[in-house]
Amino acid sequence: MNCIRRKRHRTKKKALKKFFRKMLKRYAVCLAVVLILVTGWKLTSFAVKSLSPAKEQKEDLQEPEDVFSEEEPIRKISEAEGVPYGAENLLLVNKDHPLDESYQPNLKRNRDYGVDVDASIFDALKDMLAEGEKQGLSFWIASGYRSPQRQRELLDEDIADLVRQGYTYSEAYEEVVRETMPVGCSEHATGLCVDIVAKNYQFLDEKQGSTKEIRWLQENCSQYGFILRYPEGKEDITKISYESWHFRYVGVDAAKQITEQGITLEEYLESLE
Ligand SMILES: [Zn+2]
Repeated sequence: MNCIRRKRHRTKKKALKKFFRKMLKRYAVCLAVVLILVTGWKLTSFAVKSLSPAKEQKEDLQEPEDVFSEEEPIRKISEAEGVPYGAENLLLVNKDHPLDESYQPNLKRNRDYGVDVDASIFDALKDMLAEGEKQGLSFWIASGYRSPQRQRELLDEDIADLVRQGYTYSEAYEEVVRETMPVGCSEHATGLCVDIVAKNYQFLDEKQGSTKEIRWLQENCSQYGFILRYPEGKEDITKISYESWHFRYVGVDAAKQITEQGITLEEYLESLE
């Protein structure tokens, strides 16, 4: 009995061993297949990554664009197009065309005169004034960029002055906006214009137009891309009184045409339609 049991037991043991060996072989094959697949996949993705660096380079290149655009882009573009200064900028801002509230000029500080202007007019303005100074003139910039908040303060101060003199608020407002643009309608919020005065006569009044500085500017500004924005006799179009000191950058071509034809920016834009 014992022998038979033992034999049976041995046979059982043998069968089990055989079974395990068989299973081990089968799973070893499976394991090997899985390992080969995983290694293959890893190798493939590594190869794809190392063979295509272009995508990463592109991402790297996108970042510095803003950095460069602050310093040098305007003159580079202009030279390429054969225009001495920044590209033409015909943005129309007046009482009928208020500036979009989200408008953000790309401001650059002119340290000689302590004002901010849009970077696109920076060189033209600097060169124009430098040429005038070379000819013995002496300028001062009374205003460059002005924020809408500052425009509101100026307006409120003028209105308050008139109210103190006995005007009603609406009478005072009507009077003030004849000479000062309402908030949102001032070109000064674009950074594309400047109020220039003679250094030895800084009042914004009628006499300013007779200073040799303003006379020279009115004669020469178009060569630098500027126009006298609110000329005498065009008040019905500009809806603002004559300002001998307010110069607006539009680009050299447009400035020359506007000045030669004795028209306003409004009329020039209409002629383009
Ligand atoms: Zn002005």
